[in-house]
Amino acid sequence: MGPSRPGRAAGREGGRREAQALFQLKFYALVLWRTRGAVPRQLRLMYLADRDTLSYTPDPDELARFERTLVAIWQAIQRATETGDFRASPSRLCDWCDHKPRCPAHGGTPPPYPEPPARQQITHSSQPGDPSGTYSFDPPLSGHIGTGGQGAVVHCSTG
Ligand code: SF4
Repeated sequence: MGPSRPGRAAGREGGRREAQALFQLKFYALVLWRTRGAVPRQLRLMYLADRDTLSYTPDPDELARFERTLVAIWQAIQRATETGDFRASPSRLCDWCDHKPRCPAHGGTPPPYPEPPARQQITHSSQPGDPSGTYSFDPPLSGHIGTGGQGAVVHCSTG
């Protein structure tokens, strides 16, 4: 199912923001599915600044496709981590980027690439009939999942 957004006509910038927010909501839906074994009934992103909301009702097939996309992105990140080949992607966000003076896209020279970190192995295991399964990380993963920097909160409902 796609997103729904009451009362807001999406221009080009609005469409881009909505696409980014939808990616975020799919990620949270997938994390909930894989950690709790249930696809959330609905996720709602609430923008605190303008009280706008974006609702998303996921389905398992769509989340499975999204998971394959995430795995492909992760594999590309791992390849780049091993080779140090990180391509610059200039955009309007460059104006706020702390790395701009060193960025090749703006005539800069990045510092030497350090030793690549240990490759992170991710193993997904599931029992027959169990759609969720579990992920294990080697070396262990540390950190947390936040709600991003969009001045927004995510509400997920299950069951
Ligand atoms: S300045 Fe370079 S590193 Fe920073 S956002 Fe732009 S392209 Fe990316």
